[in-house]
Amino acid sequence: NVRTRFAPSPTGYLHVGGARTALFNYLFARKHGGSFVLRVEDTDAARNTDEARAAIFEGMNWLGLDWDEGEGKGGDFGPYNQSERAELYDKWFEVLRSKDRVYEDDGAWRFRFERKPITMRDLVCGEVTIDYTDESNTPDMVVRRSDGSYVFHFVNVVDDLEMKISHVIRGEDHLMNTPKHLQLFEAFGVPAPEYAHIPLILNENGSKMSKRDAGAAVGDYPRQGFISSAVVNFLALLGWNPKTDEEIFSLDELIERFSLEGVNRAPARFDSEKCAWLNQQHLMKLGANDFATDARPFVEAAGLLDGAHESRYIRAAELVQDKVRLLSEVPDAVSFLLQDELSIDPESLAKVAKNDQAAALLAALADSFEALAEWSADAAKNAIGETAKSLGAKPGQLMFPTRVALSGKSGGPDLGDIMTLLGRDQSAARVKNLAG
Ligand code: GLU
Repeated sequence: NVRTRFAPSPTGYLHVGGARTALFNYLFARKHGGSFVLRVEDTDAARNTDEARAAIFEGMNWLGLDWDEGEGKGGDFGPYNQSERAELYDKWFEVLRSKDRVYEDDGAWRFRFERKPITMRDLVCGEVTIDYTDESNTPDMVVRRSDGSYVFHFVNVVDDLEMKISHVIRGEDHLMNTPKHLQLFEAFGVPAPEYAHIPLILNENGSKMSKRDAGAAVGDYPRQGFISSAVVNFLALLGWNPKTDEEIFSLDELIERFSLEGVNRAPARFDSEKCAWLNQQHLMKLGANDFATDARPFVEAAGLLDGAHESRYIRAAELVQDKVRLLSEVPDAVSFLLQDELSIDPESLAKVAKNDQAAALLAALADSFEALAEWSADAAKNAIGETAKSLGAKPGQLMFPTRVALSGKSGGPDLGDIMTLLGRDQSAARVKNLAG
């Protein structure tokens, strides 16, 4: 019966490393039909904050990593906050005392290590041995402080055994703690869970990623225009190798493919470009309505929806869906489709000006647009071709100035789609405007 847990300490926001640990535990539990527990390691009252607690739940919910036991869910092994589990810790401390495995040292209590080598078989890192034979290298550890509180190693092990955790998947920074934990499990007379320590995450420059680095806070991602499926995909690839050329995975596909054998030993490299690229791939997979809905807060905040027709917005969003990497780029991409006022980017304008025929071509095109009885992409494109021909130019020579006249940019959605959406009058007016 697979049981995994994510055991964050609520001392800051939810960061990428923690979210990746949560994800791997979630994937492993779901893959094996097991349970995923959320346990809050909140024993450090001085450093814990309510904001940090809330940020953990919020981040997990946003990523879609629903837990089976813990905050808001209950479960048979609660309470799920360490701050509420003092009785259990006292109980297991008494077990150690009755077995003479702890002794008092100035009011604190030390755990007597077994003086022998301890070997663990980590599911990612392989065999690691710590030799406890020499007491001066590995002094007995304090498990209970003189104020009666218990140290991390002790409460972490008690909770894992009480909560019947089968697999502990956590960051490599805990690798060297694990022999201590195995000593405790042995002393309690309870089998230890399996351990899998997942690789460190390095910054783009190779330094160890810290909570303060750019891109570290999961809570920043939605604001920056990432969608959660892309961030989940990105987190999965931080240390897990799918062993195929495919890189785009939904959460369900990750559950299907994830395995601890696929977790790398080598450190993972944080790559923000890759994250943005993955976001684009995930945006392209959304249905047009979902994309428009996800982008709406950004477009609204930019003031572009005031008075704009709903149907026009949905269609405008659809036209740029495959053109943006982040939802925060949508306002810029759609503004020319929603607003009357158009700003023309200087570089595109300069390119148009290089063609001395452009003004005459555009002026003629505006006239022929106005003369069209029926407005459609085909009719408009046809008018571009005919106008160019009548002035002895090639259609391409008018196509680019028309694009700049209508959108203010050199690139963007299909010209026919743009003209359809803008309609005849607005298209003609913009073309005339650039003609000067
Ligand atoms: N609270 C510990 C941490 O956040 C948990 C370590 C573990 O997963 O065992 O590092």
